[in-house]
Amino acid sequence: MDTPVANTSSAEIVSKNPATGEVVGRVENFSEANVRLAVETSRTAFSSWKNSSFEERARIVMRAREVILEEMDDIATLITDENGKPFAESLSTEIVPTLDLMQYFARHAKTLLKPQPIGIGLTALMGRSSKLVFHPLGVVAIISPWNYPFTIPMGEVTMALMAGNTVVLKPSELTPLIAVRIANIFRRAGLPENILQIVTGDGGTGAALVEAGPDKVMFTGSVATGKRVAESASKNLIPYVLELGGKDPMIVLEDADLELAAHGAVWGAFCNSGQTCASVERLYVHESIADKFTALVVEKTRALRQGLGDDSSTDVGSMISENQLSIVESHVESFRKEGAQILTGGRRNPAFTGTFFEPTVISGAKNSMRGMREETFGPTLPIATFKTDEEAIALANDTEFGLCASVWSKDIARAERIAQRIEAGTVTVNEVMYTHGIAQTPWAGFKNSGVGRTHGADGLKELVKAQHIHINRFLLVPDAWWHPYGPKAIATFKALAKYFSSGSLLKASLMTPAFVSRVLELRKRKR
Ligand code: NAD
Repeated sequence: MDTPVANTSSAEIVSKNPATGEVVGRVENFSEANVRLAVETSRTAFSSWKNSSFEERARIVMRAREVILEEMDDIATLITDENGKPFAESLSTEIVPTLDLMQYFARHAKTLLKPQPIGIGLTALMGRSSKLVFHPLGVVAIISPWNYPFTIPMGEVTMALMAGNTVVLKPSELTPLIAVRIANIFRRAGLPENILQIVTGDGGTGAALVEAGPDKVMFTGSVATGKRVAESASKNLIPYVLELGGKDPMIVLEDADLELAAHGAVWGAFCNSGQTCASVERLYVHESIADKFTALVVEKTRALRQGLGDDSSTDVGSMISENQLSIVESHVESFRKEGAQILTGGRRNPAFTGTFFEPTVISGAKNSMRGMREETFGPTLPIATFKTDEEAIALANDTEFGLCASVWSKDIARAERIAQRIEAGTVTVNEVMYTHGIAQTPWAGFKNSGVGRTHGADGLKELVKAQHIHINRFLLVPDAWWHPYGPKAIATFKALAKYFSSGSLLKASLMTPAFVSRVLELRKRKR
């Protein structure tokens, strides 16, 4: 079948349903000149939008939320049509977390961004105070992937707007119509013109957006593209956040609730056909329970119903493209050649013409195998075994990625000790994958999985400039360290070094004689 891959030289992008090959719609493939124009008009719009109140922004976001609620079925259907995921997941993993995030940032952005006093230690005794105040950045460029085409850009757009920025969004060329719908939702919610603009297009459009000089780039996608974005942004000192790929491990200890862990593993590996940055891509199970656990995983995997996304009883839908499916095929082939066993699945599903790959469970996996090192981003669950906690931690950390991980055990203290030693931005205990859906918690990768963060208070602060304001209310004399220098100044500076810089009030009091003598000297000069 035709893949829904954009033609890079074309002025138009044709979006196709990956499950059926049917055309969902057509959008403009934005040229470099039109992208530049979008950034320019966005900058003009920023000059008034930055003065809008938090209350005004919140009203628009909450109205947009109402529009989503009213049109929930229609939006979920569009997500399923463009992406191939089950309608159930378009609701549970795209619309539900987005609605929660919108109300959270609409209600709390003002508090999260209120001026923040900074403790300045003994310096405060000299009548000084410091605080951070937060200003919007300007034009925020958001470049998003196809795997969560609604919740990822909607979350970034909401946070950027609440922080007082204007936005130019470049969605994936495989799911552009959902982004057009996002703009439509905000327009109907009363967002003024040019505050949010969508530049549909392929990688060339994304590259042009970074080159056009936005004030920040919020990029979500693969490591390879992330590095290109970072290189291009760095040339103009444009700050960026990169949310990149993962190869997330799941560790099942011998005292885990096997039934729950197996259920969690199957959802974590096969939700969205495994095309989730935080999906379980490597499973390590204690050798004493490996057979029993693996049998449970296989049984639950065989019970999954694969089908068209618009069938409400479909558990696993199609993959996004032929390209993505061929990566999965080649990883499964590598597992076979390298001696692992395919226990179920392992092939394209012959019942469909679209890009369906059967949920696949693999045993006998080893970290040396290609499918355990590269991001697969498909419906595969390779299982390896370990003997000790130390070995499990070493195996989990043996990767270039560090997005998420999970540890499963009834002994929470032991699981948490292990969790804290895993090099990943988020580690869950007896849970898997879903914390991107909690707006309050940060989302960030260690190692090659990313730079910076999104969501939570820290994510919102990525979208503002923190300015330090320092105030001196002690106006009687010049500062002790100002001119003129001389013996009294030298004595004061030595006292500052010995006593003041200790941070101890008691020790600092020992410098009083030197300080008073210096102050009197400066006071005399002032007159
Ligand atoms: P991708 O890197 O191919 O594309 C991402 C976006 O970048 C698309 O909009 C694309 O058009 C654009 N792009 C391509 N070339 C560009 C360039 N030179 N300059 C600027 N933009 C360019 O990724 P994808 O296939 O869409 O998404 C899958 C990847 O995203 C996986 O690796 C997955 O793990 C990762 N991902 C990470 C997170 C996270 O939060 N860490 C979330 C979702 C997906």
